Amino acid sequence: MTVDKTSIEKPHNFIQQIIEKDLAEGRVAKVVTRFPPEPNGYLHIGHAKAICVNFGLAQAYGGVCNLRFDDTNPEAESEDYVNAIIEDVRWLGFEWDGEIRYASDYFAQLYTWAQYLIGEGKAYICELTPQQTREYRGTLTEAGKNSPFRERPAEESLALLEQMRDGEIAEGKMTLRAKVDMASPNINLRDPVLYRVKRIAHHRVGDGWNIYPSYDFAHGQEDAIEGVSHSICTLEFADHRPLYDWFTANLPVPSTPHQYEFGRLNLSYTVTSKRKLKQLVDEKQVEAWDDPRMPTLSGLRRRGVSAQAVREFCESLAVAKTDGVVDMAQLDHFIRHDLNDNAPRAMCVLHPLKVTVSNWPEGEVETLTASCHPNRDDLGSRELSFTRTLYIDRNDFSEDSSLSRKKFKRLVLGEWVRLRGGYVLKAEEVIRDGSGEISEILASIVPNTVGENPPEGIKPRGVIHWVSAEQSIDCEVRLYDRLFSDANPDSGDKNFLDAINPDSLEVLKGCKAEASLATAQIEQAYQFEREGYFCLDKDSEDGKFIFNRTISLRDNWQSKV
Ligand code: ATP
Ligand code: MG
Repeated sequence: MTVDKTSIEKPHNFIQQIIEKDLAEGRVAKVVTRFPPEPNGYLHIGHAKAICVNFGLAQAYGGVCNLRFDDTNPEAESEDYVNAIIEDVRWLGFEWDGEIRYASDYFAQLYTWAQYLIGEGKAYICELTPQQTREYRGTLTEAGKNSPFRERPAEESLALLEQMRDGEIAEGKMTLRAKVDMASPNINLRDPVLYRVKRIAHHRVGDGWNIYPSYDFAHGQEDAIEGVSHSICTLEFADHRPLYDWFTANLPVPSTPHQYEFGRLNLSYTVTSKRKLKQLVDEKQVEAWDDPRMPTLSGLRRRGVSAQAVREFCESLAVAKTDGVVDMAQLDHFIRHDLNDNAPRAMCVLHPLKVTVSNWPEGEVETLTASCHPNRDDLGSRELSFTRTLYIDRNDFSEDSSLSRKKFKRLVLGEWVRLRGGYVLKAEEVIRDGSGEISEILASIVPNTVGENPPEGIKPRGVIHWVSAEQSIDCEVRLYDRLFSDANPDSGDKNFLDAINPDSLEVLKGCKAEASLATAQIEQAYQFEREGYFCLDKDSEDGKFIFNRTISLRDNWQSKV
């Protein structure tokens, strides 16, 4: 699949239309959006879409976007996740308005509002067990029943809420519920829970709270406090919107935000659920959250994908009221497009085969200059050392001279090939080791052929990459493939772990890279000519180079399956 970015229509999406109407009619003076991650895992490519939508709309309409951590479930959350998320949002190229915000900043305010609802006769402490609560809730086709605690006096509920907060009530014993409508066809309105007892410390506010607000009770009120004008979330929250509106209508909140929902991004050949990604990490199916095979932003970054490629991919996606699965090939397209334009070229031999140039004097080094990019002069040039011993790729050599010139545009015994940026070379003899495998090629160069055509009668089959044996660096190369071999690993009742591609990582040791790569920076991507795009991995240390394959030059996936 190829997607031409320029051919993608960018219709005005429905949220832009709403915003423009709100601004034109004066309902909203300034666009305020927010990105509200829960710090219970790392951000993935789906979050990138939400980030681009929220920050992008604020930018487009001269507004601001807040970064707010939805840290209301302390059991699953941590400071490490907070820090990783901050790093990822910045990397993606966005800056939030003012300080970073936290739902936990508003715990005291939310508590006061809970007391307010109780005082208004709109909330009560319920002592049904979780099992009973489920029974009383009813079903999609049957109305629920009122809790026997529904009419308990406000003073009693207020006192019990305080006891819940002070850690005097066991978990699961009591909840604070809003008094909405147990017969509502929308189950979210059947007296939803506002507070649960959780006697655990919070990573930010310590152990002062023994109750934590539900998402529904927290989210809209946080939006109201921050003056969010357009609270944009994914479709699964559409059924929660009536409750969102119920709270802002029934509480003395300082502003009235509105919620809008758009389709989640799902990507083929991967999963975009923090819970599942965490499982991959916990079960050591991958190295960590930032394993280059992960669809996390940190994984993509470590793999060598640029923030720009991710942003452009997100911009190519529809912001619509339906969920869909986007083909991984579409993301790959933007990754390749960006790297083709921006990655400096270099040479690295992945399966080295030694070549000795018999007509090149021992110890003589000629410095050749090669440009770093065929059409980006600004990326400059690099030096390549030509020496008597070289390495070429084992796959670029054959003894079989019956191979057609069309099919095998590489080096064949008795024939010529051009070394990229260097001389025309002739293979003259092979040397084998004890097991019969070719261990070396004896060759000769055609003099005066750097940048020049060889004399009449000498026809190189093609151009191959190479490095000097004396002046190259040893490296490890990690070839990554898709993590799943099923396009929809978690659809239906499939267990996504069954779809893991057993060949998603191949490690090549003893690869040889041109000496200029000794100064490569971590995450800086290169095109290794004829091989693909690669970047230096963070596991590299002094003198130990590890390169990750970001992506192959072309899409080979279809031909492999
Ligand atoms: P997950 O299911 O991966 O845990 P989540 O929705 O629980 O995702 P949050 O941290 O709550 O994760 O998400 C922060 C914001 O990102 C929310 O507004 C959410 O709607 C949005 N978001 C999460 N996943 C996607 C996705 N796949 N596509 C678009 N937006 C997403
Ligand atoms: Mg969530």
